[in-house]
Amino acid sequence: MKISGDWIAHSGTQALCAALSQAKHQALFVGGCVRNALLGMEIADVDIATDARPEVVSDIAKIAGFRVVPTGIEHGTVTVIAEGVSLEVTTFRRDLETDGRRAVVAYSSELAEDAVRRDFTMNALYARADGTVLDPLGGLPDLLARRVRFVGEAEARIREDYLRILRFFRFFAVYGDPAAGIDAEGLAACAANADGIAGISRERIGSEMRKLLAAHDPAPAVSAMAQAGILARVLPGSDGKALAVLRHFEGDLPPRWQRRLAVLGGDNPGEDLRLSRTETGSNATVRDEIGSGLSSAALGWKLGETDALDTVLCRSALLETALPSQWQAEITRGANSTLPVTADDLMPALQGPALGKKLREIEARWLASDLYLRKSDLLA
Ligand code: ATP
Ligand code: MG
Repeated sequence: MKISGDWIAHSGTQALCAALSQAKHQALFVGGCVRNALLGMEIADVDIATDARPEVVSDIAKIAGFRVVPTGIEHGTVTVIAEGVSLEVTTFRRDLETDGRRAVVAYSSELAEDAVRRDFTMNALYARADGTVLDPLGGLPDLLARRVRFVGEAEARIREDYLRILRFFRFFAVYGDPAAGIDAEGLAACAANADGIAGISRERIGSEMRKLLAAHDPAPAVSAMAQAGILARVLPGSDGKALAVLRHFEGDLPPRWQRRLAVLGGDNPGEDLRLSRTETGSNATVRDEIGSGLSSAALGWKLGETDALDTVLCRSALLETALPSQWQAEITRGANSTLPVTADDLMPALQGPALGKKLREIEARWLASDLYLRKSDLLA
């Protein structure tokens, strides 16, 4: 089995691999780039594993004329900028001690040791510079069957690092086969260790949840999270039931984690997932407007296209009602409309609080008319 792609054929990537190899070291692509290349999916970043120590990687890369950034030198990673591409080179490692999040690691010269400390079998795939795939743990059949399985015993692997609970659901959402279902051993181990979520930072949880909710269809993963008692810990007060309906209504629209999050609800998603101020505001707006009686056009005018779209979709999903007819065109019409009356039209007859009150009244009538009343109607 061989992989290929622009990123692998890139002259900078090839030059770094050749330089390591000339120094009698291994240079193997690993993790997401190998996994995604095998699936024909886009590659996020290029990770290289090597038996060379970080200082040695750094020296070899500099001699080859590349810039080196010691991005994660304490856990064995250096970033090499090779002819414009950024390569994360990490020395083979094995775990000495784990405490549920941070592991004490030792460098290793053995690929087999590096492979067994990785989380899922599909993430323990390697490839040589010529694209030849190395599969020390039998991850390839799992990947091709879209089975997300822990390397080794699920329960033990989770206790080493509770973040793996969230990665398990995230990888199932993105790479799993919903028809085959989530791996039963992994799910049971997550349920048994659900309390471990308390030790993960809210930033981490937020970042995993964004990626999970951005999957093509996150509904099966979220329902498994609810079943295992993870959803309630990650996002207290949320409810995953309407997510599958939302997914159905979305059709071919590009996925948006914000929309999926809005349908889940939650007591305090902004805090629990450490959303930005803007994201929190937008989430609250959509949640509020789900229950408002505003039409698609009125929402388009009030919230702009993106949030209006999310509101209409979430509203139909939660109320289990059909989408309004022409809803997308209506949102666009609203987003391109302006209230026909301005303060200038009412002054000087009205001033101060009376002016504000009248304007709000006019706005309400205009919205209730589905944005059809004209200036003359509104001033009459
Ligand atoms: P992507 O970057 O596309 O999200 P990835 O698989 O490359 O996916 P990274 O978070 O970049 O994910 O990690 C790179 C590799 O490091 C993974 O494929 C996996 O082998 C290993 N890894 C990452 N996090 C963990 C973890 N918490 N426990 C064990 N192995 C991990
Ligand atoms: Mg990666």
